[in-house]
Amino acid sequence: MSHTIGKDKMDALFEALSEHEVYGPVEVDGVWTYKKLDSAPDLEFGNSQVPPKSVFFPQTETMFEFKRDGARFVGAEEPQRASKPLVVFGVRPCDAKAFTLLDKLFTWDYIDPYFVDRRERATTIALTCSGQKPDENCFCTSIEGSPSGTEGVDSLWTDLGDRYFVESVTEKGEALIELGGNLFVEAVSDDESSAEEVKENAVKAITRTFDRAEVAESLRCLFESKYWEDISASCIGCGMCTLLCPTCHCFDINDVVKQGEGRRERTWDSCQFEYYSSHASGHNPRPAKRMRQRNRMYHKFLYIDNNLGVIGCVGCGRCISACPVNIDIIDVTEGAVARACMEKDADAKGEEAA
Ligand code: SF4
Ligand code: SF4
Repeated sequence: MSHTIGKDKMDALFEALSEHEVYGPVEVDGVWTYKKLDSAPDLEFGNSQVPPKSVFFPQTETMFEFKRDGARFVGAEEPQRASKPLVVFGVRPCDAKAFTLLDKLFTWDYIDPYFVDRRERATTIALTCSGQKPDENCFCTSIEGSPSGTEGVDSLWTDLGDRYFVESVTEKGEALIELGGNLFVEAVSDDESSAEEVKENAVKAITRTFDRAEVAESLRCLFESKYWEDISASCIGCGMCTLLCPTCHCFDINDVVKQGEGRRERTWDSCQFEYYSSHASGHNPRPAKRMRQRNRMYHKFLYIDNNLGVIGCVGCGRCISACPVNIDIIDVTEGAVARACMEKDADAKGEEAA
């Protein structure tokens, strides 16, 4: 059953969630990100530059703390973890879909207790993209997604002007309705048809398309191609394309030690950084930019799919918008398909001539 909630009821809903940690989109120094909220969420935003993976997988997080006893470190203790249920407001459907990929990754060969704990406690409230979103670089519809998709979503909200149309997708979504009580009212058929119209318009607003059919096949025969040198020539290795990607999940681990105590923390890392894959021996298996760019594409469109059965891209377009030198993942993959055909033709001609 669907419901609506008036925008004027958001303060009351926030009050009703007093036993929860509530997260939502917040603008900090001109950058939209997701933070813990101390008042009702403002859902009138475009897209966030920082994806909401940061709620479950923070940019920097303390794994444990320890003390120094002379030359030895002793007494490792995990910091007190919060136990309240979490609610995350205003998640875009592509980012919610990315949560399901991270769920697989963080429980694949090792159960990551930090990520899993937060995910289990969380209710995800997604917001159908409308108004300022989808933006010019979105292509979720080409990757089995939708601006009103429900993968990874507990409750889907659609903006109807003075109210939100609320669809419960999971039991957690139903529980939210129960908790809100009479703040939510049963939807009528006009609400449903208005929500349908918003959703259809959102799909029409997506202008970029991506044909993934031949990408994996092309990558398989391009590993040694000069193509990677060509497309990585302008890359400055800033890592934005990966740090802001909702599916990227690499991290580095460091000990931060000060006088008699310290902490072990993990921090987002990027395969586009020169020393990301350096070994302790000094050997670096990916010392060149072309190798790092190639790795990003192979990881997204081949390796994750081989391991987990899903591709590592949800079509949010952030890497396109954020790249300071305009490297565009759709152009790169389209170029890979064209280059693979070209190289195959050249090989065939070479064999004929021989
Ligand atoms: S690869 Fe780019 S478009 Fe795909 S999910 Fe990551 S940031 Fe978004
Ligand atoms: S955002 Fe662009 S310049 Fe920066 S590492 Fe990625 S591809 Fe290279």
